[in-house]
Order: sequence, then structure tokens, then C-alpha cells
Amino acid sequence: MGSKQLVYAFEEGDGKDKKLLGGKGANLCEMTQMGLPVPPGYVITTEACLSYLDEKKEGLQPELMKQIKNEMADLEKKTGKGFGKAEKPLLVSVRSGAAMSMPGMMDTILNLGLNDETAAGLIRQTKNERFVYDLYRRLVQLLGSIALGLDNEDYDSIFNGIKTKYKAQQDVDLNAEGLKETCEKFLDFTEKKTGKPFPQDPYDQLELAVEAVFKSWGGKRAVDYRREFKITKEMANGTAVNICTMVFGNMGDDSATGVAFTRNPGTGENRLFGEYMVNAQGEDVVAGIRTPLPITELRQEMPVIYDELEELRLTLENHYNEVQDFEFTIENGKLHCLQTRNGKMNASALIKTSIDMVNEGLISEKEALLRIQPDMLDQLLHPRLDPDADVEVLAQGLPASPGAASGKMVFDADRAQSRANLGEKVILVREETKPDDIHGFFAAQGILTSRGGKTSHAAVVARGMGKPCVSGCEAIVIDDTAKEAVISGVTLKEGDVITIDGTTGNVYKGSVPTIEPEFVEDLLVLLEWADNIGDLKVMANADTPDTVSQAKKYGAMGIGLCRTERMFNDADRLPIVQEMILAEERKEREEALERLLPYQREDFKEIFKIMDGCPVTIRLLDPPIHEFLPSAEELLHEIEHLTELRKTVDGMAELPDTLKILDPEIHKRFAANLEAINQGFEEFKDKHLDKTLIESKEVMLKKVRMLSETNPMLGHRGVRLGITYPEIYAMQIRAVLEAAAEHIEDGGKIVPEIMVPQVCTLEELKWVHRYVVEIQKDVEKKFKINVPYEFGTMVEVVRACMRAGRLAELAEFISFGTNDLTQATFSFSREDAENKFLPLYNEAGILQDNPFEVLDLKGVGRLMRITIRWARKTRPDMKIGICGEQGGHPEAIRFCHHIKMSYVSCSPPRVPIARLAAAHAKLKEAEFSLN
Ligand code: PEP
Ligand code: MG
Repeated sequence: MGSKQLVYAFEEGDGKDKKLLGGKGANLCEMTQMGLPVPPGYVITTEACLSYLDEKKEGLQPELMKQIKNEMADLEKKTGKGFGKAEKPLLVSVRSGAAMSMPGMMDTILNLGLNDETAAGLIRQTKNERFVYDLYRRLVQLLGSIALGLDNEDYDSIFNGIKTKYKAQQDVDLNAEGLKETCEKFLDFTEKKTGKPFPQDPYDQLELAVEAVFKSWGGKRAVDYRREFKITKEMANGTAVNICTMVFGNMGDDSATGVAFTRNPGTGENRLFGEYMVNAQGEDVVAGIRTPLPITELRQEMPVIYDELEELRLTLENHYNEVQDFEFTIENGKLHCLQTRNGKMNASALIKTSIDMVNEGLISEKEALLRIQPDMLDQLLHPRLDPDADVEVLAQGLPASPGAASGKMVFDADRAQSRANLGEKVILVREETKPDDIHGFFAAQGILTSRGGKTSHAAVVARGMGKPCVSGCEAIVIDDTAKEAVISGVTLKEGDVITIDGTTGNVYKGSVPTIEPEFVEDLLVLLEWADNIGDLKVMANADTPDTVSQAKKYGAMGIGLCRTERMFNDADRLPIVQEMILAEERKEREEALERLLPYQREDFKEIFKIMDGCPVTIRLLDPPIHEFLPSAEELLHEIEHLTELRKTVDGMAELPDTLKILDPEIHKRFAANLEAINQGFEEFKDKHLDKTLIESKEVMLKKVRMLSETNPMLGHRGVRLGITYPEIYAMQIRAVLEAAAEHIEDGGKIVPEIMVPQVCTLEELKWVHRYVVEIQKDVEKKFKINVPYEFGTMVEVVRACMRAGRLAELAEFISFGTNDLTQATFSFSREDAENKFLPLYNEAGILQDNPFEVLDLKGVGRLMRITIRWARKTRPDMKIGICGEQGGHPEAIRFCHHIKMSYVSCSPPRVPIARLAAAHAKLKEAEFSLN
């Protein structure tokens, strides 16, 4: 049996096999086989990478090296050049490429095959010394920093020194002599640092480069990226390595290099979008070394090539049915395509292109929905800068990734991370960003660079993350050692707040006010498609008419949870609530409740009006009532303070007499003043230090102490309150039913759903149900109409899960309160876990996620499945939903779809995400498995 094939020429690799060839490699194979102008090359498989990493030995395995050498021999034949040969030297690039695109995550080394001898040969061949030394210095720096572990900044500072010496502003201004000197210095520096000459054998160079790419798969930034974007082994395991014949964009003024998107990745506009740089190599564009030109200018500069690019754009899109992000090089007037991949876009571009591509017949509605990860919609639901804000623009750069963000300036990624860990909002400000800055991107609200274009590293990564970015803001002069920047004459230091607007490219000093986002028409269309597909209904958790309106705007199909206690907190209601709580007698309490009733009824009526005809689930009072009173410490402090003040004022009143006895002379001098002051104090005492005020605080303190519990969340709350203080629930039930009656009288449609919290036994439900039946009769009599309602329960304690079959005898619907159910299942306090031990649990891998954020499918989820099974045995068509925080997360939604729940309910801004996630859950139901 022959050995395993570890290397595939672009002509033979299977373009569909991204797992084996990586995304870049597979696409290079596919494009070659489509006849597109890809320079010859081959791919080293991800399996070769994994096997190298498994062995943990330096040096490539002999079998792999053998196959590489065979491929190099083929490349030599295809190109008519020789690897390491001075006559017509063959130069190659080495680039990584895993199954999933990870921009900027892995390394690229260009110009391999150059050494002192081949460089001399290439000079003879091209008669272009400048060009060859430019290639050589790049190779030495790239191989030195990536494969030999030397510091990039050291090379940069040598290079900058030479640029200064030759008075070159930019690298293109440096002449052959300067570049030759750079090569010499780079070679010396490399030798000095590594103790060995820079590798002259091209196969040594190749081996080092391939190993470096393999190793970078396990490097910090790649690991961080995979963790952040939850890239599992099933999605991408190991990186492939692409070896490709070099073509040169730095051969002179008829050469160029560029990056383009088949559509605009910021807006979705259906037009070639990109940038290019004349006389440059690809890395210059991506790294933002110089600010490139917009691709529209190429139309004037090289019209024929521009037409070819237009043709390439159409061919790529028609083939991949997806927006492509491709790299190209023009070498002496000939176009080459070096890579293509699916374009990373922000949410608004994704939405626009989805709608457009459906209209153009490129993709189906279902495909259009599946292109957009639900969480990405989050980007559209954030505030944008208030256009009416009276602010002055400090500087303007390129609008590289839309959205606005304010934060404290930081000048390096580590500082961004450490300040963000302290809870600060930061903007990462850099001359240009590099892949090592990735942790700074995660930490920052937005990114501002002084160099680089819309396809620079900063722009691409920020767009992928949906974070605002302004790039190429050349008005900023950054001094990162002094941690300061001068922008249009204003010096700003680390910690100073700025605002960036990635939609316009504007930069502002300070924090600029923002306004709520508007829904774009395209999103409405897309979400309508989603609603037609998803089985799950999407409701909102909203408690006041304002938030209910917002929920409606976001497309909520009803209200899944209205927490009635939130209505008690308004300034004009809280004193009545406190009165109700402090009441000693039931009658007194009823009187206070009587005054609260109209407030609740009006709120419910308003909500029914906004949600006319849709389900509205109202939860009866849940939290322990002491939450409406100040804490014992607060009260104690106030009482002490007031008593002290009172004593001081009383002491002041006695002062004149005492003074008269002890020092009549002083008394005489100040008597009039003292009298006036004391008069003022007496008034103050009567007004603010009244005894009854202090006494009322003491009564409140007594009540607070009486109500105090060691474990309030497991104590006197929810239905337990409703049973011990029936008048509270009675008032709420009456408010709901009277509001419904009035709404129906006004011609509206509503069947309010009354939901009881914290239930663990059927007897509790029966108890509350009796009030409902009684009050309903009363309301129907009063209004002389039928007032329908549904009666149901939250399931948020473990016993309720176990007794779901019995609860379903009375409950017409169930809503899982997974906040409490998670607390109950883990026995983790909701209040304490997240800032005490959960971060460590997550970091140490004891728990993968925070279960209060991400539904714990294996534990809580299993309880939910049991509950549903038992509940539907009793009531087969029972309506079942979720209203805990996790209910708005796509993964939870997938699970809820899988276990055949009826709806999910989440906060209003998550409603659009949940609508799309519900459609995804349906479209991808066959792929779901619980393991
Ligand atoms: C829950 O417990 O999941 C719930 C929605 O109720 P609350 O968060 O108000 O306790
Ligand atoms: Mg709860």
C-alpha cells in the first residue's frame, strides 16, 4: 500500500474538501480547475499538520518532505523555473488556511527560495536590483519573525533607521541601495540573534516556514480566536499550508496588489469594492503599511485589468453563490487571483446582500436566512450617534466598520484587555493593528487606526466582530510609548474618552449621545421570511407600556412575561406599595391596594391595546415584599442621623442660657445672632426632624426586620405571598380582568393569561385559581360581558417539574422560568454565583458556560424535557414556553424547538435575533443532536 497523500496540486485537490485542504486551499484548487488565473501551486493537508503536531518533533516528517519535493519538481516544470537555481529562480509563498476562515490568525511568508545566490540571479534576470532586494528583505523579516522567533519590531526599527538615513518617507521611496543595505542589516541581525546564518538552502526555508504555519495552529492568537468564535474540532482541525508560485505586485508601476469584495461588505451594495496599491506586495495592503487607493481608481489607471476584475467578480459570485473576498496581484499588466473566500460582512451588509441575492435568483429565501447568524443582528439593535448632537468632529478617517462607540483611549492591546477586565469601556487606538492585537479587539468597544484602508487588518477583523472601526485616520499622530496621541492639535492621553463612528469615519472628543436604531426595510422582509418558517413563536418579556411598544416594534408576537412588580416601582406608586406592606391590618392593606389598582389596570389596558389580539401573559407578584422597602442598614443609618441632628438642634437651643451663666460678656456680644440661628433651627426641626418622621422610620425598620429572611429567594415570595396575603393577588387579578373587560368593551380582542410564579404543588394553584374564578364572576357581572382568560403556571422549581402532570390538570399553559430553575437545579445562588466562583469554573473548564446565560441543556434541559412529557400526557396540546434570560439565545432556541415548545420569550432587543434563530432551528433541525 502506498503512503498517504499529504500534498495535492491545485489541479487535483477536491475543492469541496475544506476539512482536508483548508478553505483557502480548497478554493485555490477549485479556482484553478475553473480556469481562473491562479498561479501554480499545491496544498499540504490538515492531516499532515495534525500528524506533525502529534509527533511533537522538530523538523517535517521524511514522508511529507518527500512529497513536498516531488511537488516542487512539478512546480519547476509548470513554471519553467528552478527552486534555489540562480537562473530563473522559482519563488513561492507559504500561507496557512484552516477549514474555517480566520482572518489574520495565521501566518504568511512570501518570497521563499531567495538567497544570496538566487537574488543575484534574479537581478541579472530582471535587471531590477531594487525589486529583488525589496523581496529579499521581506523574506528575511517574515521568516525571521515568524519561523525563527525574532522580534518584528527590531526589524522595523532597523528598516526605519535606513529610511531616515535615505530620507525616504515610505518604503517605496527607498532606492535599491537602501534596500540592499536593509537586506545586509537584516541578514546580520538574524545571524547575530540566532547564532546561525540566515538559511540559504531554499528547502530549509520551506521546511521552517511550513513548520511555523503548523505550529501557529496551536499559537495563542489562533487558540483565542477559536475559543471566542466557538470553533470546534469538528469545524476545523489543524491548518493546511498553501504553497503558491510568487507573482509580483512590486515589479514596477504596471504591477499592483489588492484586495476586493464582490459586494461592499459594509453596506452590501452590489458593486466591486476594494483597494489596491501600485508597486507593492500583498501584505502591504492587509497590514496597512501604506494607505491604499479605492478600486474605482484602477478603472482609470488600468482599465483593461479593471474589466477583468469585474468579470472575475461575476464568475466568483455565480460559482460560489456568496459574496467573495479575494486577493489579486497584477504583475507586469497581468492579473492573478491569489485567494478567495466568503466575505465577512457586518449585519446590515449581510441583510442587504441576502435580499438582493434572492431577488437576483442566486439563492433561495432559506439560504438567505441561513447566511446570517442570528446573534449578528445584535449589531443593528444598538444605538447610533444622535445626528442632532451638537458635537465637533476632531478628525476623519475611513468608515471601516459601521456602528458607533465611545470609550477611553488605550494604545495597546494588553492595556485594552486589562482596562476592560476592570469593567471600563475602551477604544483601541493604534497606528495599525496586527494579528497579535486580537485580544485587544475582543476587549475594545471600537478600533481606531491612523494607517491602513478599509481592507486593512483592523477593518477586516472589526467587521467580522461587528465592532465599529475607523481606519486610516491620518490626522492622528500616535506615540504609544508616551501613551498619547495628537489629533488635529489636541493632545489626548490614555484614559481620555473619545467616540468613533465607523459609519462615517468621524472621531469625536468625549462621549457623544446616541439614539435608538431604526429597523431597515430589508430586515423587516427577512424577519417576515423567518416568521413564516419557524415553528416557535417569539414573545417578549416586557413590563411597562413603553417596553411593550418596543417589543412590538421588534416583532414580538405577544408578551410572554409581564413582571407586575416592575409596575410598583414608579415614584408615585412606591409609597402606596410601602403603605400596603406596612399595614398592620388586612383592612388597611386593602385600602392601599385599592389605590394601587387603578395604576395596574391602566398599565394592563395600555399593554392590551398595544398588543391587541396577541397573547399577553401576566405574572402575579413574585419577589419578596421587603424588596420594596429600604434595607435595614439604610433605615438604621437614617434614624441615627436624624436623631443626632435632632439632639444637636436641642443642644443649640440650650446654648444661649448656658453661655449667659458661663460667660455673660460673650453672650452679650452674640445673643442676637444666636437667637436668630436658633429660630432657623427650630423651623428646620419642625419641618425635617419631626418625631413622627423618625418614629415612622422606626416602624418601617421593625417591619423590615420582621420580614427579613436568611434566604429570601427561597423564602416568602411568589405564590407563597399570594396565599399569605390573598388581597395582593386579588387586586392584581381584578386589575387584569377589569382592564381586559374595558379593552373588550372598546372593541379590542384579548384573552389575558394569568400566571402564578414559584408554584410547587397543585394545591397552591388551586388556591389562586379560586380567587380568579370568584373575581372573574364579579367582573363579568360588573361589566355585563364575558371576560375570558387563561390560567397557567411558571415552572421554576424542581418539584414543579416532577409534578408537571398534576399541575397540568389546572394549568392551561406553562412557562419555564429558567433563571430560577437554573438556580434550583445547580443550587447556585443567582445573586452570587456570577461574581464569585463561576468565572473560575468557566476558566478551568469545570463548566463550559455560565448556565444563567447559556441554557444548561444537560441538566436544566433534561428537567424541561421530563416536564413537557408529563405535562402533555395530561394536556396534549398544552402551550409551553420559556421566559428565563436564556430564552433569547440561539442555542437555547434550537433546543426549545427540538423539544417542541410553543414559544420563547426574551427581552425586546433580542426578539429579532430569536425570530431568526427560530427559523434556523427549523431549517437545521435534522442536524440537531443532544450530546
Ligand atoms: C425566571 O425565574 O426565569 C423568571 C423569568 O423569573 P424571574 O427572573 O423574575 O425570577
Ligand atoms: Mg423566577
